[in-house]
Amino acid sequence: MEATAPSAKRRLPLHTQILIGLLVGGTLGLVANYAAATSADAAGVVNSAVEYVAQPVGKIFLRLMMMVVIPLVFSALSLAVVELGDLRHLGRVGLRTLGFTAIFSFAAVMIGVVLVGTFEPGNTLDPDQKERLQTQFASKAQESAEKAAFAKKPADTIVDLLPENPFQEMVGALDGSSKGNGMLAVMVFSLIFGIALSSVGEVGRTVVGFLQGLFALSMAVINFAMKLAPYGAGCLVFAITAQLGIDIVITLAWFVLTAMAGFAIHLCIVYPAVIFAFARMKPLDFFRAVREAMVVAFGTSSSNATLPTALRVAKDELKLPPKIANFVLTVGATGNQNGTALYEGVVVLFLAQVFGVDLSPAAQFQVVLMAVLAGVGTAGVPGGSIPLIVVLMQSIGVPAAGIGIILGVDRLLDMCRTVLNVTGDLAVAACVARTDEEFVATAPPSATENDNENSTEATAVDGEAS
Ligand code: ASP
Repeated sequence: MEATAPSAKRRLPLHTQILIGLLVGGTLGLVANYAAATSADAAGVVNSAVEYVAQPVGKIFLRLMMMVVIPLVFSALSLAVVELGDLRHLGRVGLRTLGFTAIFSFAAVMIGVVLVGTFEPGNTLDPDQKERLQTQFASKAQESAEKAAFAKKPADTIVDLLPENPFQEMVGALDGSSKGNGMLAVMVFSLIFGIALSSVGEVGRTVVGFLQGLFALSMAVINFAMKLAPYGAGCLVFAITAQLGIDIVITLAWFVLTAMAGFAIHLCIVYPAVIFAFARMKPLDFFRAVREAMVVAFGTSSSNATLPTALRVAKDELKLPPKIANFVLTVGATGNQNGTALYEGVVVLFLAQVFGVDLSPAAQFQVVLMAVLAGVGTAGVPGGSIPLIVVLMQSIGVPAAGIGIILGVDRLLDMCRTVLNVTGDLAVAACVARTDEEFVATAPPSATENDNENSTEATAVDGEAS
């Protein structure tokens, strides 16, 4: 999604353009908010600018992304499963990859959910401001907010994971009119579709090709949207800050701190614990070995762009067998995004607090499941999680345009969550390799074959630390 076109020689990279758009939008919004508070004439101009310019431009940007969310999620998730199926001869490796991915993702989302529930960053917004925001988005938020607090029995929530009519769920997923679990049901359908597709072998080849095309087309539309991002995101931020002023900036600071705290806990506690227990490595040795991939992930905000570095690090520094590294890291670049899953949960619950959407336990459970699955379905590109966050928001009754509140800080958090995503892929690869009998049997010679200088990293995975 980055502006990498060779023809754009002297143009600023897209993320810099977006940042400038956000800064300009945010600053103008704050100035407009101040002006509106001091003069009635200015207030009229500001309201018109928000209503007739900022909001429509912001909506066009959002709709370009929304229009391809269903095909994107459907193709990405089905293909992720097919890739696993293609490599089924790896047998245990595939299952272990899934197991470790599930452990990391659930832990990540739970950390995020607990932190948002504890610090309630969305409730730091002044009640008057909140009310204004809620009134502004009232038409959309009202009915969906009621829906969101649905007191569904947990058993029904589970049954509704399986859609009776997937097409009906697809139609209803975006506007909250679905009878079942909406987007979550679409995701489960995509997983089942992928499993079935990978079990039929050759006959399914055309469908796989179709899904690959569908995924590429959806990404192309997202790329169009991203070209508009500097203006679209700038307008969304202008609209929010012009109406809420500096208060929203303070609330955002709390949101950033909460997300960062979640990232830090996952990176400094969960990864080390699992790496120590399953990869039998000293966590510090692991982090030293993978630091290059972490830095590239931070700089590019893209798991896909970091994949070549991650593969090199896995082979040269962690000394993992290529067979395992290729499989786990390639699937993981899209399918194992712990930082993203954590972030998606945090954003959705934060915005639910801001918009006063009360979530029943069933709805919270739905958020956890959706965030885990959204982490699987998110493309490993900068801002890849934004379309999915919008869907998650809508499915629990938070108005989509509310995404404008967090877009201003998304890039910074994207850099951080991508570090977690890539580190998580390497952690899963190390754990899978260490628990693989074949690798353990052959590890000592391969781990030391070409390395004398980097003995710490070279021996790291062979259980030296244990
Ligand atoms: N930028 C993330 C990645 O590439 C995806 C996201 O969370 O937006 O891993």
